[in-house]
Amino acid sequence: MQSGGSYGPELLGFLELLPTPAVLLRLDDGAIIWLSSSGAGLIGAEENSQVVGKSILEFVATEQHAFVTRDMHKLMQGADRVSPLVYTLQRTDGKTGSVHVESIPLVFNDTPAALSLLVDVTEREDALIALGESETRYRSLVESSPDAILVSVAGEIVYANPTAAADAARHGVTELEGCSVFEFLPSDPDHVGRLKQLYTEGGVLPWIETIVRYHDDHAFPAEIHTTLIAWHGEPAAQTVVRDISRRKAAEAEIREYQDHLQQLVDERTRGLERAMAELESMNLDLMNANAAKSSFMAAMSHELRTPLNSIIGFSAILEKGLAGELNEEQAKQIEIINAAGRQLLGLVGNVLDLERIESGRTEVITRELAPVDMAIKLVEMVRPLAENKGLHISCIPGEDLPQRLRTDQLKLEQIIMNLLANGIKYTDTGSVVLSLSADEDWFRFTVKDTGPGVPPDQHDLIFEEFYQHSTRDNVAKPVGAGLGLAIARRLADLLGGRLWLESEEDVGSTFALELPLA
Ligand code: ADP
Repeated sequence: MQSGGSYGPELLGFLELLPTPAVLLRLDDGAIIWLSSSGAGLIGAEENSQVVGKSILEFVATEQHAFVTRDMHKLMQGADRVSPLVYTLQRTDGKTGSVHVESIPLVFNDTPAALSLLVDVTEREDALIALGESETRYRSLVESSPDAILVSVAGEIVYANPTAAADAARHGVTELEGCSVFEFLPSDPDHVGRLKQLYTEGGVLPWIETIVRYHDDHAFPAEIHTTLIAWHGEPAAQTVVRDISRRKAAEAEIREYQDHLQQLVDERTRGLERAMAELESMNLDLMNANAAKSSFMAAMSHELRTPLNSIIGFSAILEKGLAGELNEEQAKQIEIINAAGRQLLGLVGNVLDLERIESGRTEVITRELAPVDMAIKLVEMVRPLAENKGLHISCIPGEDLPQRLRTDQLKLEQIIMNLLANGIKYTDTGSVVLSLSADEDWFRFTVKDTGPGVPPDQHDLIFEEFYQHSTRDNVAKPVGAGLGLAIARRLADLLGGRLWLESEEDVGSTFALELPLA
């Protein structure tokens, strides 16, 4: 049975005076009987006549229709009020709003009706939704954080995120909420003082590195950072605890590795220093040995020269028959002794030369000379040797040659004589030619023969000491000691020039000597 009083049109004047928008609904079908002008504004209508007669459901979000119908039914059944509800309003201008509705039953003009008082809560609802969203965001951030996060009010933990709870559980602490935050975080007066200050003055405590304990026997290095936040309206400290034990371990490992590396470097350096010292002493030994070798060679060569000169001189006297007539066999053998003596004397001379150059005792004495005259003189000196072998020998001075050349004449003559003698020695048929040419910077002497040539792989080897190339059958057996070219190249170096071989096998050899003109 319908409860509430029975009213006529005078009620409407009274309702219009209320500060709260109001609406009268017919209970059996929910049609709007009357709407206060502020109520019309709420719904977005310009006048209440625009909405009177329409069903209230037109202005309520579809998903809430069931609540409207249920409450009207309750009032119809005699309930003297229904619980207030917040409805989503579908305004006539298409916008939505939120309205808090409280309804009571009454009879208006003999019709069972509901009087609903409406309070616009759109702004509050929007704010609540935004707050809810930001709370959800905060929660999801805090809950998914890999850092442990503790919220404490007046030093007592009121919230621990899952990471904090899991860390604590691992170390035997099952319930963090309710514990004092100082059981875990540094309880030194400095930190406690700063935390208190944070509660009263707000702000942020910067990151500090400290030791956090979840259990008496388990402490780990951590970085902590505290901010003041509101927790259910109360000031609270939110502390982020970042476990840095892994980073610390890695740092320690790197330090250890660095120390180890340093040790290795030190050891290597010591080893190197030892090796250097050994090398230095070996070098010294070598220099001493070299000096000993040089003085031995010099002494020995001088010692050999005197008896060799006797052998050569007396064998020559015997050979010429000055000490009495020799028979044919004796003459042949004396000739061999004499030739061998001269060869040995040559070798001793070469050894002495080389030793003098190597020990830096060879002096270079330069003076001006006429290169063409000198070349002709040298060719004439060896002409008998060449012609004895049936070889043609000549000197070809090029065109536009400089008249003068400034160098050490004796050394230059020694080099060219060696090249000419080799040309004659290794050539069986054909010719040996000494040519002269020059450009702006260099004066060039070339000795070209038609001998067997030298294979390309030995072009440098033949300039080494004691190197002799005699592998080919058609090469005459060498009668030297393999020192001539080694000395010649060293002399060329001493004169600031260069000596090299251009040779084609089976065509002949061309040795070139270049001396600087400047
Ligand atoms: P040696 O003539 O006393 O053996 P050298 O130092 O003068 O020593 O020459 C080294 C080697 O170079 C010789 O043994 C020879 O094989 C090669 N050689 C030098 N000159 C010629 C040349 N004109 N033709 C061919 N081979 C040569």
